[in-house]
Amino acid sequence: MKKQIMIMKELQLNDNKISILTKEINKLTTEISNLKNEFERKTNDFQQKEEEKKDSIKERHQLELDVDVFDNKIIKLKDQQFNVKTNKEYTSLLEEVDNYNEEKNHVEDAILAKMEQLDEIEQVLKKLKNELVEDEKILSTDVVDKEKEIKLSQEEITRLEDRKKVLLDSFKQDFKASYNAAFKKYKGEAVVLIKKQICQGCFMTLPPQIINEVLMGEKVIICENCGRILISDFALEEDETK
Ligand SMILES: [Zn+2]
Repeated sequence: MKKQIMIMKELQLNDNKISILTKEINKLTTEISNLKNEFERKTNDFQQKEEEKKDSIKERHQLELDVDVFDNKIIKLKDQQFNVKTNKEYTSLLEEVDNYNEEKNHVEDAILAKMEQLDEIEQVLKKLKNELVEDEKILSTDVVDKEKEIKLSQEEITRLEDRKKVLLDSFKQDFKASYNAAFKKYKGEAVVLIKKQICQGCFMTLPPQIINEVLMGEKVIICENCGRILISDFALEEDETK
């Protein structure tokens, strides 16, 4: 009797450990995946900013060429001023020069705006670069530690699953079936204690003959209400005080 109860108790403790380890593995896996995603996101942001920088430099260069074009036109017009014959021609030439100067000013403003934009891009790039360096450190230390922890937990789970198989094999087939059904239904909590005549799984008060049968320990007793396997706290307490 005691032996059977102790095996059931060990089985439940075994299941609890598996459940805790599985949750821990899931938590670590999520953390790793979040860190990796974040790193990937920042790497993409960095590459995108690098592209923006290239474009911005190219655009600025184009604007500088435009300024050169205006400068050349203005120089040519100024050369022509010595060849004009009438006042009218002279006035119109000056107007043309003014127009080009105005356009040139617009382009120069655009160049200044581009330079400011480039400054901003450089700052973002610098910030991202620093963050990526830090993240790389985390990936090569914390993540490696977490991965090691996962591996150890997985090995422990394998050991616990092997032990569970041994424990279950020591019971009869009907117990195994009831156990597996309750295990599935209650997400790992297949075995529960009776305390003060109450099933600690569903909190229903159990009939005296059920409690007696549990205490006798000759067969597996299942809570009629919830289907969990019942074990008695009396028997356990006796064993634990030994
Ligand atoms: Zn119950």
